[in-house]
Amino acid sequence: MDFELNKDLINHQNTLNSLINSMNDGVIALNDNTEITIYNAAALNILDINNVKIKSKIDQVLKPIDKNNQEVKISELILKTKFPDINRDFRIKYNDGSTINLYLSISPVKLDYGKKSTIGYVLLLRDITREKSLEDERDEFISVVSHELRTPIAISEGSISNAEFVVDKTGDLKTIRQSLKEAHSQILYLADLINDLSTLSRAERGVLEVNIEDIDINDLVKELKDSYQADVEKKGLELKLELKKNLQPLRSSRLYVKEILQNFITNSIKYTDHGFIKISAEQDEDYTIFKVKDTGIGISKTDQEKVFDKFFRSEDFRTRKSNGTGLGLYVTMKLTKLIKAKIQLDSALNKGSTFIISIPNLEPPKIP
Ligand code: ADP
Repeated sequence: MDFELNKDLINHQNTLNSLINSMNDGVIALNDNTEITIYNAAALNILDINNVKIKSKIDQVLKPIDKNNQEVKISELILKTKFPDINRDFRIKYNDGSTINLYLSISPVKLDYGKKSTIGYVLLLRDITREKSLEDERDEFISVVSHELRTPIAISEGSISNAEFVVDKTGDLKTIRQSLKEAHSQILYLADLINDLSTLSRAERGVLEVNIEDIDINDLVKELKDSYQADVEKKGLELKLELKKNLQPLRSSRLYVKEILQNFITNSIKYTDHGFIKISAEQDEDYTIFKVKDTGIGISKTDQEKVFDKFFRSEDFRTRKSNGTGLGLYVTMKLTKLIKAKIQLDSALNKGSTFIISIPNLEPPKIP
């Protein structure tokens, strides 16, 4: 009988061991003295150690740091925990200097069912570095987007209420028209921003479809010229075209190629006060190459590495004179990858910039 009982106990123990060892989360059980009694393989992984001596103090192996980079005495925190508690703000620093964000759950548990039952603790540990960085990115995104929305909304609101005021007071049509024009241009900017955001969200979810068609390059460039001629003239700039003869149709997504070129052109108009903008197109065996050149403020060597990053805007005050989200080139890069194209940037501070995109012919989708 005793023997059978023992066997049952051992079986039971083995099942429990394999159960906790198969868990993805680190599990550490402690006695009331915060000494380790059970742990699993995932816990060793997170702590980056090979083994733990049973009965060693939790403080020896788990030394989290808090938001202010201060080491947390974990046993003190555990002993204070009367109810299950979760912390997502600690990090673990490894010997090589790298850190991870830690999910740490501390649950006090009764260790037996006697009247004076002693308390122990179960810790769950998880590496949440990726979730944390996504959360940080999302928070930054919301704060940048709301900031970018606020300015044009405030300007439109001010212009429209100014127009209303003038209607009531003097009825001066010139002032009213001027105010409405300002409000209109801010609303157009908001529409652009919303477009950027929705393209971005579709691109990030990877649900953008590439519709391949034969693109007439002369036709596309002429369309772009017609859309931007007025903006270019308004800034006293010149819009030049340089199209090689006999350009063959490009097989790619007209929508994305156009959107990419539009981003280059709007930037070149935005960041150029004197001179010209030139759109050129040429072809070699493998690629159709578009260049958008401007004689604007240019981009420093260090900034050139960052212009395609999400939200990046140069600190240069001449950049900050105009509205911008820092999303345009990020979205452009996403679209560029979708059509298997390559972007090059040739620029120097105060010397203007040239954005070059080389686009290959894509295979039309196979009809099953
Ligand atoms: P936005 O123009 O909305 O700020 P983009 O992603 O389109 O965002 O561009 C990122 C940054 O790259 C700009 O803020 C600017 O600093 C720089 N940049 C892009 N195009 C040009 C250009 N043609 N001339 C100078 N700077 C540019």
